[in-house]
Amino acid sequence: MLSRFDVIIVGLGAMGSAAAYHLAKRGKKILALDRFAPPHALGSSHGQTRIIREAYFEHPLYVPLIQRAYELWAELEQASGKRLFRQTGGLMIGRPDSAVVSGAKRSAEEHRLHHELLPAAEVRRRFPAFQPTDEMIAVWEPRAGILFPEACIEGHLGLARKHGAELHMVEPALRWEPDGNGIRVFTAKGEYPAERLVLTAGSWIQSLLSELSLPFNVERQIQFWFEPKNAAIFHADRCPIYIWEHEPGRYFYGFPNLGEGVKVAGHHEGEIVNPDSINREVAPKEVAAMRALVRKFLPGADGPLRTAVVCMYTNTPDHHFFIAPHPAHPQVLIASPCSGHGFKFSSVIGEVLADLLAGGRCGFDLGLFRHRWFGRS
Ligand SMILES: Cc1cc2nc3c(=O)[nH]c(=O)nc-3n(C[C@H](O)[C@H](O)[C@H](O)COP(=O)(O)OP(=O)(O)OC[C@H]3O[C@@H](n4cnc5c(N)ncnc54)[C@H](O)[C@@H]3O)c2cc1C
Repeated sequence: MLSRFDVIIVGLGAMGSAAAYHLAKRGKKILALDRFAPPHALGSSHGQTRIIREAYFEHPLYVPLIQRAYELWAELEQASGKRLFRQTGGLMIGRPDSAVVSGAKRSAEEHRLHHELLPAAEVRRRFPAFQPTDEMIAVWEPRAGILFPEACIEGHLGLARKHGAELHMVEPALRWEPDGNGIRVFTAKGEYPAERLVLTAGSWIQSLLSELSLPFNVERQIQFWFEPKNAAIFHADRCPIYIWEHEPGRYFYGFPNLGEGVKVAGHHEGEIVNPDSINREVAPKEVAAMRALVRKFLPGADGPLRTAVVCMYTNTPDHHFFIAPHPAHPQVLIASPCSGHGFKFSSVIGEVLADLLAGGRCGFDLGLFRHRWFGRS
């Protein structure tokens, strides 16, 4: 007789590791599978740093979620004994009517968040790493900072295991099928029955949902680390995280130098790829395109390239998240395509998934994230 789990989780990156932790902590009997051994560098959650910010330019509905995420990261830091977060403050930089500036301002005002509007000259004075042009302004938010993604995933997985979750690394789920009101997951090692299934397979999620023809795409993204020519101005005490809309709808973002060089990356504009055949080499012309932005806006970071690493976004058409039950099998929850801005929320998404599995409700408005492509509200 096969042992029956309460919940099987497929994919143990950012979202799945958090779900495993929250479910195991509530006493659920969990089996969690990953095709690799997270934290690894083949999905969407590697590269040493992720931005966390509160004045969310993408939509004010994200603000209550991020506020809970901050609390949960602090709790995880305590419980795991790992350093997960460094506060640096954050700048959203662009023209006054840019999406990044007007959206951050809207969220900050609607939610009465601590923030300041800084003209370009003031940005240059306070933060000499940044050289915005005179027509640009910035929204400054003091709470923003850096999460250390590999440590976050290790923290969630370590505590999930401690609370009794069974974690099977390097055991990909090949397929799943409904089994009465429950489900059954098949791997090369066997088959596992459970009451519920959580699919958090990141860039591979569509291969487990091929019957739905979901309109997600996987986008190749590159993270670059440049040696600063002027190290002092990129120290984390003087250089906050930032997102820069340098032309309408075109973004890059980055971090201070934490010892590995100044990390910068473009946001979107990458090639649409298949996660199993993605090109992980970075071409000289890709370095040159990033360097041109660095030279213009962060000239003190225009030293030699230290390294460049490829990563993947899993995008929805409107770049909001997708967190919803399977339309035909409500015992299956889908939660992964986070369109390149999900890491900071993974702590709260783990809790939301546990709440949804417990009673079908959670305390947040998930209206942006549901059923849009199933023809339902
Ligand atoms: C370059 C880059 C920069 C980013 N910057 C930020 C940022 O600054 N701030 C922010 O908030 N977000 C950021 N993001 C987005 C964020 O990192 C992602 O939204 C988040 O990491 C996605 O988590 P995930 O759990 O969906 O995917 P992953 O962490 O990739 O996890 C998916 C897991 O599923 C496993 N898997 C796949 N198929 C199977 C299978 N069949 N069976 C078993 N396991 C399977 C994979 O091995 C993987 O471990 C960035 C993303 C990238 C790529």
